[in-house]
Amino acid sequence: MRFRPILVAASAVIAVTSSPARAQAVNSDSTTALLVDLIRTNTSNPPGNERQLAELLAPRFRARGFEVKIIQTPDSAKAIIVARLKGDGSKRPVLLAAHADVVGVERDKWTVDPFAGVIKDGHVYGRGAIDFKGGMAVFARAAMMLAERKVPLARDVIFIAEADEESGGPYSTAWMGREHWADIDAEFALNEGGWIMNGDDGRVRYVSISTADKLSIPMTVTARGTSTHSSMPRPDNAIFALSRALAKLSSYETPLSITPATKQFFTALSRTSSAPMSGYFRDLVGSDAARARRADSIISRDPLLHSLIRNTIAPVIIQGGFRANVIPGSAAATINLRLVPGSDLNAFVATLRGVVGDTTVELKATAPTYAQTAPSSENTDLYRALTAAARAQFPGAEVTPYLFQAGTDAGAWRSRGVPVYGIYPYPIDADELTRMHGNDEKVSIASLAQGTEMIFRTLVDVAGRR
Ligand SMILES: [Zn+2]
Repeated sequence: MRFRPILVAASAVIAVTSSPARAQAVNSDSTTALLVDLIRTNTSNPPGNERQLAELLAPRFRARGFEVKIIQTPDSAKAIIVARLKGDGSKRPVLLAAHADVVGVERDKWTVDPFAGVIKDGHVYGRGAIDFKGGMAVFARAAMMLAERKVPLARDVIFIAEADEESGGPYSTAWMGREHWADIDAEFALNEGGWIMNGDDGRVRYVSISTADKLSIPMTVTARGTSTHSSMPRPDNAIFALSRALAKLSSYETPLSITPATKQFFTALSRTSSAPMSGYFRDLVGSDAARARRADSIISRDPLLHSLIRNTIAPVIIQGGFRANVIPGSAAATINLRLVPGSDLNAFVATLRGVVGDTTVELKATAPTYAQTAPSSENTDLYRALTAAARAQFPGAEVTPYLFQAGTDAGAWRSRGVPVYGIYPYPIDADELTRMHGNDEKVSIASLAQGTEMIFRTLVDVAGRR
């Protein structure tokens, strides 16, 4: 499905109507300006060098009255900034989390310098524009605006720019949770996750707020055989055995697995779509299994939607052999499993062993970092505030909980029972979505302004003193 980008001119000043900041102006340009500075700070990971970004942000938060800590990790180039705007302490803190690192670039495939923060055609271009420096700029500006407008706060508002989200490196939020939990403890948190998706008419079609992430699990498939001279091949060739196993996995489709949030998401999609897709979306989450299977076969042509409704299997690395005249004794593949929360990992691997049907091939999955947790509750003040702000910002849009198809670093909080809600806080279209982790990543200036206003409204609602 393709969507046309939003056709709203960027306005420098937009009105915010949330009490107590009624009729005050939001300088939307400042989110754009901050994003440009963030993109110019190259935090491609590896190596990340996230400390530079903490140093860029620290004086800006301090100047607005935030308590700022730069938490140094054992790696001198990696630090995590925690900026806290104090409330009166009558409620527990709300936290805004944004990862400071970005994935690298294929520079020759970009039409602009990915680390220059180029502004062109109403968009900011650069690595991280969507994932997640755009979100960081929105979260930081919304929090700063609370201080600038002297909004009286009932709870602390904590902003954190964390390291090692993209690389799987050691100083992620898991490290923060172990070493510095008191600094990031909160009643609930916002993070990256769901989407504000534009429709064909240039208006926001839905706002999906993630309440859980799929689990990413590495599984190795190892085939063994006799290692010998390649002039005398035997039937027990490890590479052939591995190939047969992978071929069987490639033609196996996992069954539907639909969570309550996913059901709400597809119900929302059906209300914002036209026939015949609206009917397929309804059938997918309806009670007729045959209709659901037929709907699945059509809906699953979209890789994103396919991934939301089942466990997935993706081979990512293959190893075997070292020279032309030796048959290797083993060959192995790494398979990335992505599980719908609540799935039984051992049962799933046992099913895959049955699919492979060869007892000489070993399938071994690694246990996840965190034990599985229930999705974050939709019955919290933060979820309600974000939902209300999204409805006010994007009238007519469906607002729905969502199972995020990928992983984030929200586990540090969710594993301790702290609800985390995920959103990329700016309207985007399908084209912009494909540029995330790709080439010419960009976000529209109008979207940044709308997102800043929405998150500011959310914070005033959830943290403002009544
Ligand atoms: Zn991200």
